[in-house]
Amino acid sequence: MNEMDKIKVLADIVEIPSVNDDEVSVAKYIRDLFAKYGIESKILKVKGNRANLVAEIGEKGPILGFSGHLDVVAAKESDGWHSDPFKLVERDGKLYGRGTSDMKSGVAAMIVSLIELQQKGLKNGRIRLMLTMGEEIGEEGSAYFYEHGYMKDVSALVISEPTYYRIIYAEKGSLDLKITSRGKAAHSSMPNLGYNAVNPLIELLSELNEFFSNPPKNDVLGPLTFNVTVFKGGEQVNTIPDYAEAEINVRTLPNFDGNDVIKKLDEYLEKKNENGATLTREVLMNEDAVLKSPDSVIADLAAEIVESRGREVVKTIAPGITDASNLLKEKKEDYPFIVFGPGNPLVSHQVDEYVEKKAYLDFIDIYQELAEKYFIND
Ligand SMILES: [Zn+2]
Repeated sequence: MNEMDKIKVLADIVEIPSVNDDEVSVAKYIRDLFAKYGIESKILKVKGNRANLVAEIGEKGPILGFSGHLDVVAAKESDGWHSDPFKLVERDGKLYGRGTSDMKSGVAAMIVSLIELQQKGLKNGRIRLMLTMGEEIGEEGSAYFYEHGYMKDVSALVISEPTYYRIIYAEKGSLDLKITSRGKAAHSSMPNLGYNAVNPLIELLSELNEFFSNPPKNDVLGPLTFNVTVFKGGEQVNTIPDYAEAEINVRTLPNFDGNDVIKKLDEYLEKKNENGATLTREVLMNEDAVLKSPDSVIADLAAEIVESRGREVVKTIAPGITDASNLLKEKKEDYPFIVFGPGNPLVSHQVDEYVEKKAYLDFIDIYQELAEKYFIND
């Protein structure tokens, strides 16, 4: 593929607006493109028009996993974009469009690298490309791959989320909780006839805030963070509220995970209920933290490649979660894993999101080098 062809692949997938929906249209485009180059792929329907895609090249040997997500976050020109967010536009060596950074450039770079490796003939190993739906909300696509056994025989994993040459080997987990409080409405002049639903919820939340004000910590990932992010309660100033709810986001650690937080919450919550409250909790999402070695074979090969380009090697942790939470379930601590991609996390989800054209093209070569070196080393 020449440079124009490579950029066209990115342009084509940016132009399919898979805003937390319709990943199947992107998947179909990729399937048809792969078919032209003799690469077999399969669209795996998760629900409605939400689908994953899996493709594999190579005949035998260890399997290197490549992964990325097909969905993007919302964008409209009236938000202040200087061009249509769903058209790839080049200005000053930068390619603009929704998903150029997070993460259609990473996906496109992996697609093109597979095509080129297939043409060269891949020896001593196989690559399984797993593209997911719904990463931005819910991570159901990666849960599907895990549950259907696609990760079982994969010996190392590279996710092409935007890192701009940095090598990420760990990320905190994320837990979303909803707490509901039920009371009894009454006129506020006669509060004794009712039960105020807001009060026990406020008390519970402040007790939890107090507990987590000295949060558990991890040497690599830092402190757990606990935040009440939504609070709703009451309807009218002179009515005792019969309902209140709150939502909480916790960034969790391997040494204090989502289940530990839930256990702590339940202790406090049950005490309130013993004293007359009616509080219930619901777990909306519970994604595990990932903490792998910064010196795994794949991390070291990536470092070697970054260094060979005269760039500083940075091995670090990610601020948010990725599909790795699901894909790496049950994998050991020393499992080779990195997040490593051409986009820049600083412009992800933003107006005028872009990827540097040079970085996008470079990562097409980088993924090939990484695979070839991995299969020699493994
Ligand atoms: Zn992403």
